[in-house]
Amino acid sequence: MTNHTLFLFRKDLRLNDNAALAAACRSGQPVILLYILDETPPEGQNRGLGGAGRWWLHHSLRALAEEIKTRGGRLILRRGRPLGILDEIIAVAGVNRLYFSRGYTPAARALEDAIHARYHDRIEVKRFAGHLLFEPEQIAQASGLPYKVFTPFWRSCLAQAEPYPANSCPDKMPGCATLNLSLKSEALDGWGLLPEKPDWAAGLRKVWTPGERGARRALDRFLDGAVADYGAGRNRPDRDDTSCLSPHLRFGELAPARVWQQTRARVKAEAAQKSAMAFLRELGWREFSSHLLFHWPTLPEQPFRPEFAAFPWTPDAKALWAWQRGRTGYPLVDAGMRQLWQTGWMHNRARMVTASFLVKHLLIHWREGEAWFWDTLVDADLANNAAGWQWVAGSGADAAPYFRIFNPILQGKKFDPEGLYVRKWAPELAKLPTQYLHEPWLAPAAVLADAGVRLGETYPRPLIEHGAARDRALAAFRRIKGSAE
Ligand code: FAD
Repeated sequence: MTNHTLFLFRKDLRLNDNAALAAACRSGQPVILLYILDETPPEGQNRGLGGAGRWWLHHSLRALAEEIKTRGGRLILRRGRPLGILDEIIAVAGVNRLYFSRGYTPAARALEDAIHARYHDRIEVKRFAGHLLFEPEQIAQASGLPYKVFTPFWRSCLAQAEPYPANSCPDKMPGCATLNLSLKSEALDGWGLLPEKPDWAAGLRKVWTPGERGARRALDRFLDGAVADYGAGRNRPDRDDTSCLSPHLRFGELAPARVWQQTRARVKAEAAQKSAMAFLRELGWREFSSHLLFHWPTLPEQPFRPEFAAFPWTPDAKALWAWQRGRTGYPLVDAGMRQLWQTGWMHNRARMVTASFLVKHLLIHWREGEAWFWDTLVDADLANNAAGWQWVAGSGADAAPYFRIFNPILQGKKFDPEGLYVRKWAPELAKLPTQYLHEPWLAPAAVLADAGVRLGETYPRPLIEHGAARDRALAAFRRIKGSAE
């Protein structure tokens, strides 16, 4: 029987800049392209991919399958436990090589270990880098210990050789059409990844183009325009100055090394280069989050700083619901939460303010917020999400100190000064004069009436007064402070 190379797609749903796929194509053998959807939650977790992530995955796989088809290949789709499916395909198809891109989450690493243990003495098993700019093992302190602070971590990254993307995939897949056709593949539409009753994805469809082509267009658009203003504009949710690449990077439709290299190559003007470096530094935070998760696999469940395990969180189902639905009475918080609900994405500044509001104003555990983001973000990523939440909560590595509490009114005035963001996502406030937009409760009755706002009816009153919330949060923090400093 002819030998075959089996290529397993994971968080690398792209044909270009995919070192593992390029190596499979160069193996000189027919290549079988496989994606396995494993819906069993990883051990120790009670959840699989969130709703928005499932929506993205469906469209990304569709785009990938079409792209493969145009190159004469076929994507085999299977659902179930990976080892059982691999056993079957390796036996039926006479596979002697198994290639894939490596992952960094505890579940991804456990699967790689299991694959290695099961097959390495029978066939060639090879894993390749590609999801990060630098491998976690590459970046360490002089002592050999992993970093806990971002700045020296990033300095160490910048001292490495510049990341360079892998080769492109050939125009024609080294296919094995006959064999592929006899291998069972499931129908993507049968996987139920899309929401049906109700179909809440209209807002997502309007905004996003999942898939490698969409990812490359988004990168081009950003590098042709907004990157020049990124340094100043990236904090402004009322502007479109960030790249919106996060879901594309999350699903591996774009190699971070491609983003790095294109940014370095295309941004030439001196002023814009500063902005470009600020942008690449954000990719650095993505690296740092994965570095943390790699070395501290409990990051999504447990506080990085153990003293926070004793923090007196206050569960409150009603307040949690109001936060989730953008009904807190604080316009910037509500705008952010509604942007998330409608589009599956939220601007980073709004993520910080909304997250801070949940953990500091409402004293609700960051894990509740993490879980909501997990379900609703198209870019939901185990490392970035957990690190982001722990950073805001003050319990993370290199985190914002707990006593620094975002004031959602001042944040609104500073980063959404004309109220464009709030007017877009909380349209019931759109007619309020800018001076009252971030604190509508201060507006005189006649102004509210003119703008058609009835507090407590058309728009909620604040769930909690900012000063009182701040005092309460600081008092709660003092209870663990002795050990937290
Ligand atoms: P840009 O500003 O254009 O940045 C470029 C890329 O760098 C992003 O696409 C992203 O991959 C990475 N990046 C930027 N900022 C960060 C950051 N602070 N941490 C890690 N990576 C970063 N990002 C996710 O990708 N998935 C998440 O689940 C996620 N959850 C978050 C939760 C909270 C509470 C917070 C505060 C932040 C979270 N972030 C998460 C980080 C950040 O908000 C998003 O990556 C960013 O807003 C995506 O928009 P962009 O692609 O336009 O980013």
